[in-house]
Amino acid sequence: AHYVAAFSDISVRKAAEEKIQYLAHHDALTGLPNRVLLRDRFEQMYQRVSRGHRALAMYFLDLDHFKRVNDRFGHAAGDAVLRQLALLLSEHTRSTDFVARYGGEEFVVLLPDTPHPAEALTVAEKVRAAVEQASFEQVGRVTVSIGISLWGSMDASSEDVFKRADAALYLAKSCGRNQ
Ligand code: GH3
Ligand code: MG
Ligand code: MG
Repeated sequence: AHYVAAFSDISVRKAAEEKIQYLAHHDALTGLPNRVLLRDRFEQMYQRVSRGHRALAMYFLDLDHFKRVNDRFGHAAGDAVLRQLALLLSEHTRSTDFVARYGGEEFVVLLPDTPHPAEALTVAEKVRAAVEQASFEQVGRVTVSIGISLWGSMDASSEDVFKRADAALYLAKSCGRNQ
């Protein structure tokens, strides 16, 4: 009996450690991977793509005028939009793509094996249109802006890929959003 008790103590501790690991890498509101896990995964994908011939695309996505949504419908309704958007992003991307909540109302999608700019653009446009056409609980319509970047051989680090997506997002915002 003593032996069994010691064993179950270890498995309980192991389960608790796994839970802590999970919580440290996921966002409590949407259940998506968080920025910590995103950084790990991005680094892995980046290393793989720099060594081989695979391609990598990245989306940096931001809800448009989300402050207004909170102001008008309340923070709880805003939270529901974030949860629904997380589901929608997962539905409209492949299982091999990696969807993360970067922070606040910003999401990142990593798409391995997307060598052609046209393909990255087509998928992003599908996501944008799906958000525009969806009806969000309590709130109704919302839109997103998406910055896209592709890995290139001139990139020195994953940070370079990230910076281009961020710059593209900024451009999408300044050109009128929902694009
Ligand atoms: P823009 O189109 O330029 O992105 O405008 P914006 O209003 O979306 O951008 P801004 O950065 O001014 O505001 C972001 C808002 O997102 C403000 C903040 O209250 C809201 N927000 C961030 N995280 C959360 C969250 O977890 N829940 C809710 N409900 N709101 C959040
Ligand atoms: Mg933002
Ligand atoms: Mg925003």
